Amino acid sequence: MKANTGVISAARAMLAIVAVTFCAELLIMSVLMYLGYIRHSIGLMLVDAGVLSVLIAPPIYWLVAAPIKREYDIRQFAERRANELGEQAITDFLTGTRNRRGITISVLEAMAHAERYGHPLSVAMVDVDYFKEVNDTHGHKAGDRVLQGVAAILTEALRLPDKIGRYGGEEFLLVMSETGLEETSTLTERIRQQVSESEFDIGNQKVKLTISIGAVLFEKGEDLEQLVSRADRALYRAKELGRNSVVAG
Ligand code: GH3
Ligand code: MG
Ligand code: MG
Repeated sequence: MKANTGVISAARAMLAIVAVTFCAELLIMSVLMYLGYIRHSIGLMLVDAGVLSVLIAPPIYWLVAAPIKREYDIRQFAERRANELGEQAITDFLTGTRNRRGITISVLEAMAHAERYGHPLSVAMVDVDYFKEVNDTHGHKAGDRVLQGVAAILTEALRLPDKIGRYGGEEFLLVMSETGLEETSTLTERIRQQVSESEFDIGNQKVKLTISIGAVLFEKGEDLEQLVSRADRALYRAKELGRNSVVAG
């Protein structure tokens, strides 16, 4: 399939070279004929130009077009690879959400936007309740599957411009641009309820669990550390309420 594509693109390039050289030769011959250097009929001139272009096209292709195309392909491959590596550097391999570095970049970008335009921005720290027990009872692999399940619910619940990333072991950070605290409160409450009603498949059985969420509204002038630690404190209050709860504000 790949070899076929190569042959097709080489044939296409060759045809283009034949067409271009044919036109160029025809033009040169016409000028020479006009000046009286050659005495050809139009038909003979066409045949001459055709034969010449077919003879000239392969060396032009191998000497000029093929190396340029090879260079172009290599550059394209390198660019694709660099993009893939860049994407990998900000992705959490377990859950497919952003990793800490990725979500930090997202928050900083959202903060800069909110600061500049004065639009509301909410962030929420989500933590799985008693997650250690899942690991201790069912094993680390089961814990991993639970994290994947929770990440899937969170990802599904968010809207397109919102961002999600695994901030720590069983903690996720949600970044909701253009979203006030009331809307965030409704959204996170819905997520909390959905998780508490879900069953997580861990292979041979299903487990139920809950999450706690601390949500805050970005305040102009505050830095990343202040914003995240306010979200952490809200989360801590949600845990103190007995877990399976949301504290917004
Ligand atoms: P709390 O309700 O207070 O949040 O209790 P908790 O058990 O969820 O919290 P704790 O901090 O005591 O335990 C978190 C556990 O998460 C401990 C750690 O081994 C586990 N963990 C962290 N990262 C991963 C991971 O990538 N996979 C799995 N399976 N476990 C992880
Ligand atoms: Mg935790
Ligand atoms: Mg926890």
